[in-house]
Amino acid sequence: MTEEELASIEQLTQLVHDLLTAPAIAAIPEDFLANDGVQQLHAYLVETRNVVASFSRGDFNVKVPIKGSIGGLLKNLQANLRHMIWQVQMVSKGDFSQRVDFMGDFSEAFNKMVVQMDTTLRELKENEKKLQELTESLRREIDKRAEMEESLRKSHKRYQELALKDPLTGINNRRNFYEIASKEMRRIQRNGGVAIIGMLDVDHFKRFNDSYGHLAGDSCLKIIATSLTDNVREIDTVGRYGGEEFVILLPQTSVADGFKVAERIRTEIASTPIPVDKIIATVTVSIGITEVSKENSSELLNSKDPLAALINEADLALYDAKKTRNKVAAYQYMSKED
Ligand code: GH3
Ligand code: MG
Ligand code: MG
Repeated sequence: MTEEELASIEQLTQLVHDLLTAPAIAAIPEDFLANDGVQQLHAYLVETRNVVASFSRGDFNVKVPIKGSIGGLLKNLQANLRHMIWQVQMVSKGDFSQRVDFMGDFSEAFNKMVVQMDTTLRELKENEKKLQELTESLRREIDKRAEMEESLRKSHKRYQELALKDPLTGINNRRNFYEIASKEMRRIQRNGGVAIIGMLDVDHFKRFNDSYGHLAGDSCLKIIATSLTDNVREIDTVGRYGGEEFVILLPQTSVADGFKVAERIRTEIASTPIPVDKIIATVTVSIGITEVSKENSSELLNSKDPLAALINEADLALYDAKKTRNKVAAYQYMSKED
């Protein structure tokens, strides 16, 4: 081999070496520019470099124009990687049936990962279902409790009403009236002022019951309770003392004004028709009132049971009114010798 030939081989070897290893693409030496074989080899190596460079950047859609066994291997690699990318996309859409069997260790890891994801997702769905069932049963439990609370609240309210109200007329019962009136007495003891305590008794109620029956008597008591309630102010208190007797408390009211209120009640009741079967009945009431004030009733107010003492005064006035019936009498206006 001549020295010239040896130099050419060395130049070509260097070209191939550079094309395979150097970062930049080496150009064909001038001496070989016209040589077809060298040009084809150069083009082949450059295309191979470009394809490998694309793969290394993650671009697997590049055309592989290389022929021969290396081209075949690169196309094969490209097809496998593209298939794998597609499989990963399918997994991301929830298809856990995907398996890889052409990538050695990666296949095993990928397949395990997909199985694991599939299992985890199933477990998550089951847990979610259990959680939904639990939430639903909790919601039902909360609703049940709310219902129970509501019925408890209602029965508590009903119990309170029973404890405070007279069941027939719906107005305060004697105990509750006592409670309210005692507070008012204490207020007058502290701050002064006046109030009226009144006792109302239905006239000849026994006769009414005997004539029209007990049920008609009950309606009569209800009508009287309504009339009492309608004729007093918000701050006043009415109560059923027992049987056919009622009590009233009119705070901040003088005996003269209390008398007017009691008269209004008396006349209204006397003129209120009470339907009994096919006839209309009427009833009258007698009312006794007494005035309470810190000045005039200080002895009473300081007694052991001031309210009982005042009710007794109202009762005495009522007894006075009962002399004629259908009348109002005031303790303060009574001739005490009677
Ligand atoms: P006076 O004018 O003296 O008050 O006569 P009176 O008949 O009203 O008095 P008496 O005390 O003799 O009778 C009261 C009657 O009231 C007797 C009782 O049966 C009746 N009474 C008490 N409570 C009720 C009730 O809740 N309903 C009915 N219908 N009657 C009742
Ligand atoms: Mg009576
Ligand atoms: Mg009576």
